[in-house]
Amino acid sequence: MDDKSRIQKFIPIMNEISPTFCLAKWHHTTIYLQTGETHSCYHPTPHKIPLDEIAIDPSALHNTKEKISQRAEMIAGEKPSGCNYCWNIEALGEDYISDRHERNASIFTEQRLGAIKTNPLAHVNPQYIEVSFGNECNFKCGYCHPKHSSSYYKEIKDHGPYDMVENHRNDIDWFQIYEEEINPYVEAWWQWWPEVSKTLTILRITGGEPLLQKSTWRLLDELDNNPKPNLELNINSNFGVKPILIDRLVEKVNALLAKGAIKDFKIFTSMDTWGAPAEYIRTGLDLTVWERNLDTYLTKTQLPITFMITFNILTVTNFQSLLEKILEWREKYNGFDQNKWQRIRFDTPYLKEPLQYDMNILPKAEFMPYMQSHLDFILANLDDKNRSKFNDLEYVKFLRVVKYMESAIYTPEKIKEGRRDLFNWFKEYDRRRGTDFKDTFPALKNFYNDCGIV
Ligand code: SF4
Repeated sequence: MDDKSRIQKFIPIMNEISPTFCLAKWHHTTIYLQTGETHSCYHPTPHKIPLDEIAIDPSALHNTKEKISQRAEMIAGEKPSGCNYCWNIEALGEDYISDRHERNASIFTEQRLGAIKTNPLAHVNPQYIEVSFGNECNFKCGYCHPKHSSSYYKEIKDHGPYDMVENHRNDIDWFQIYEEEINPYVEAWWQWWPEVSKTLTILRITGGEPLLQKSTWRLLDELDNNPKPNLELNINSNFGVKPILIDRLVEKVNALLAKGAIKDFKIFTSMDTWGAPAEYIRTGLDLTVWERNLDTYLTKTQLPITFMITFNILTVTNFQSLLEKILEWREKYNGFDQNKWQRIRFDTPYLKEPLQYDMNILPKAEFMPYMQSHLDFILANLDDKNRSKFNDLEYVKFLRVVKYMESAIYTPEKIKEGRRDLFNWFKEYDRRRGTDFKDTFPALKNFYNDCGIV
C-alpha cells in the first residue's frame, strides 16, 4: 500500500469523532519554556501558557485552556482558525492530504483514540514533545529570531530592531525571555516530567542551542537514573559548540544506549550550503570546528545524523558545494557494509519567511538553471543501492523544491517588497556583523544591486 492510501485509510476512523478531528491537538506539542508558549504543530501561532494554570497542574504546559477549547471545537466538527493551513489544503478536494491526515495516521493507536472518545477534554500526556529549555545560543542565523537565540537578542538590544525592512524587524519589546535558572516554566517541566515520561515515545530537545543549556544535561542524567527504554530522544544542535561538549554528549549517549536507558537517539543539525556562504547565513558558525565535531560524533558513535537544509535564497547558487560534502561524508562514514542504514541523512524543506530569504523573489529565468544543475548533480550521483550516493527519495524531495520554485508566482507588489527588503536587510546585516554580501555571493551581486533601485 502506498503512503497516500495508508493515510486515507484512517480518515473514516477519525471521522467517527468528527471531520475536523486532529490527534496532534492532543498528542503532539512544542513547548518554548523561555517564553512560556506552546502550539500543537508548527502551523498555529504559539500561544501563551498562563502561569496560574501551570501553578495548579504542570501538564498545562501542553493542556492549556486555549488548547482545550480548540479540542472542543474539533470535537464539535468546527475548524479552529489557527489550523487554517490544513483547512486550506483540505478545501482543495478529497485527493489532497493535509498534515492533519498525516498526523492522524501516524499518531493513531486504538488506546489513544479510545481514551479521547471516553473523555475528550481531559488533560493528556502527549506522545511527542518538542521542548526548548532556553534561548541561549552561540549562533544568530539571519532568518532565526531573538526568541530562539540569545546572541540575536543581544544584537537587537545593542543595535535596535531592523526597522529598515517590512519583514523580520525582530523587535524584542513585546515578549519576555525567562532565564533558565529562574524560570517557572522550567520548574513546571521538572514537576511534569516523572508523569509525562511514563508514556512519552519521542522527546525532541530544541533551542536555542540545547548543548549550552543545563536542563539538557540534567535530562540526560535523569534518564541515566530512571531509564525510559521506550523513549526515543532527539536533539537539534547547531554542532558549532566547543568540542568538549560534543565529547560529553557522545559519552553520555553511548552510555544511555549501552544500558538500554533509551530506545534510540537522533541528532539533527542545520546546514544550508557550504563554505563562506554557510558561515554568512549562520553567524557564529566556524566550519572547521563544526566539521571536527561532526567527525567526533560519527567516529565515536554508531549513530546517524540528519542535516536540515532549509532551502532559501542564499542556497540557490551554491547548493552543489554541500551536496559534494554529503557525498564525501557518506564515503567516509558509512563503512563498507551496503546493507546497513544511511548515517548521513538530509532533508530539504524550503523557507517561506522572512520574505527577503525566500528564493521566489529571484528572477526565475536567470536562477532556475542553478536549480536544474543541482538536480542534475543529484541525478548523476544517484544509486539507490549504494549508500555513498544519493537515493531516489532524496531526488524526489529536491525535485519538489525545484518544481515549487518553478511554479510559485508572486504578485509584482510582493516581489518588489521582498527585493527592497533584501537590499535594506543585508546592507544593515553587513554593517552590524562585519560581513560582505557581494563578496560572499558573487553570483547574486547584480541581483543585489538591482534590489537597491526597486
Ligand atoms: S489540524 Fe493541522 S494545523 Fe491543526 S494541529 Fe492538526 S496538523 Fe496542525
